[in-house]
Amino acid sequence: MSDKVPYKIYLEESEMPKAWYNMRADMKNKPAPLLNPGTGAPMKAEELEGVFCKELVAQELNNDDPWIEIPDEIRSFYRMYRPSPLVRAYCLEEKLGTPAKIYYKFEGNNTSGSHKLNSAIAQAYYAKKQGLKGVTTETGAGQWGTALSMACAYFGLDCKVYMVKVSYEQKPFRREVMRTYGASVTPSPSETTEIGKKILSEHPGTTGSLGCAISEAVEVAVGTEGYRYVLGSVLNQVLLHQSVIGLETKAALDKYGIKADMIIGCAGGGSNLGGLIAPFMGEKLRGEADYEIIAVEPASCPSFTRGTYAYDFCDTGKVCPLAKMYTLGCDFIPAPNHAGGLRYHGMSSTLSQLYADGYMKAVSVPQTSVFEAAEFFARTEGILPAPESSHAIRVAIDEAKKCKETGEEKNIVFGLTGTGYFDMVAYEKYHDGKMDDYIPTDEELKESLAKLPRI
Ligand SMILES: *Cc1c(COP(=O)(O)O)cnc(C)c1O
Repeated sequence: MSDKVPYKIYLEESEMPKAWYNMRADMKNKPAPLLNPGTGAPMKAEELEGVFCKELVAQELNNDDPWIEIPDEIRSFYRMYRPSPLVRAYCLEEKLGTPAKIYYKFEGNNTSGSHKLNSAIAQAYYAKKQGLKGVTTETGAGQWGTALSMACAYFGLDCKVYMVKVSYEQKPFRREVMRTYGASVTPSPSETTEIGKKILSEHPGTTGSLGCAISEAVEVAVGTEGYRYVLGSVLNQVLLHQSVIGLETKAALDKYGIKADMIIGCAGGGSNLGGLIAPFMGEKLRGEADYEIIAVEPASCPSFTRGTYAYDFCDTGKVCPLAKMYTLGCDFIPAPNHAGGLRYHGMSSTLSQLYADGYMKAVSVPQTSVFEAAEFFARTEGILPAPESSHAIRVAIDEAKKCKETGEEKNIVFGLTGTGYFDMVAYEKYHDGKMDDYIPTDEELKESLAKLPRI
């Protein structure tokens, strides 16, 4: 059957998912609730609604419903760039001489260039429905900010983006794409917020982090009438929206009678991975099938592989609720790795619980080996991958090479989350031999983990 698999498996529009899948409904051990940092009690919906949109709060707290209908307005937008292709990497397989069959789900076929648009459009929709004027957010590498700008332009919402300073400087073109869609973009940490000023005085010259930018965006949302804060990863609601990736992947594989053996995804805050694995994990949780699931993170920011599973702040400024997750400590500011979207100190609490319960594995990979894989992939499969996505490519290639040694014909599926067109400074550093592989020492991690809040 599989030799009849086309290079690109497109689903029909009519085969697009009509509902998102909520993995939490099938988890025996639910992800730990968000806690109020002041009282230590689980956050109530009313408390969260001061920061987040009402309907998104309901999704955030919903551990019971396995399926949540995708509103028609969101499905109409999805239709502009979905279903996304599932590609059989014939050229890559041939070049590697592997008996493994490699598939990747490509989410870079929209102007924002990544999977983030899947959740951006959903969040903008609920903000609009609530009658808000606008939203604030943070962005790391810029993909989330770009996606949100597009989504806000579509629904006529104002969009204020706090962009991690290192990316703001490295990726001026992303900034301009956001402005093209009408967003205002501020480098973070900035002097425009109290928390930004505080961080700047404590860490002069800092290149920023997602944790800092989140604090600033939340401060502005809470202090501005008619605004709420939206987040591009980590939260349960974001994983829920991203389940569209996994549902399409599974539908496409099922269409050709293919059963995935291994599913690989890069992990920053965990949203693309959580979305890609969702329906597969559902089967695993219900005991219907088994899959090997691997999260890939940068060695410079190794939350799963070297972090601690504990309650921590989601942001550097400690204004957000506490989440139980694998974390490096909210004060951890990772080295300026070029995979900006993976520079986050924590991890989705849903994935953290699944990892703690042994449902998935994690590996970390150094930066130059990631770019080596990225370049190899570009030269064989044609697509210029985002640095973040290339973490998954690295491990997919390594696993396919293992299959060459063992002769196993595994079906390997990985998430190709985005394109690297805006990451050419990173590619330039790699080509010029100026990229380093900074890995934090045990001492550094110990120092930031020592400051975890005591619950
Ligand atoms: C943001 C981003 C990631 C990482 O975020 P997750 O929430 O872990 O998915 C990965 N790839 C790309 C292209 C991104 O933009």
